[in-house]
Amino acid sequence: MEDCIFCKIIKGEIPSEKVYEDEDILAFKDINPAAPIHVLIIPKKHIATLMDITPEDNELMTKIMNAVQKVAKIVGADEKGFRLIANCGPDSGQEVMHIHFHLLAGRKMGPKIVH
Ligand code: AMP
Ligand code: ZN
Repeated sequence: MEDCIFCKIIKGEIPSEKVYEDEDILAFKDINPAAPIHVLIIPKKHIATLMDITPEDNELMTKIMNAVQKVAKIVGADEKGFRLIANCGPDSGQEVMHIHFHLLAGRKMGPKIVH
């Protein structure tokens, strides 16, 4: 997608601090971290929101969850834990219209599901 900031990161047109990459997935550090560890995990396929995922993407979604585990291990959050957040649509405050999962770790998370 031409004007998508995350597609540009995937293509290397915008720099990022990569944490993990494979054929289908990229994980990189959030530019404005909300926790000591804040990684964004995204599919290389452009999908605008969680509501745009179709059954055709089932395998891809499984791969994203596999990547979540890999990233958690890479950043050392597999034992102590982490929070995984995905915003969808205007009320959630989703800013980038390319699905992404925020992996937050490195501190105790509050009781409220916010970041
Ligand atoms: P959301 O509000 O769920 O759409 O989250 C978008 C996230 O993307 C925010 O946490 C931003 O800090 C992050 N972000 C935006 N631009 C970049 C970038 N160039 N590199 C890394 N993270 C970014
Ligand atoms: Zn995109």
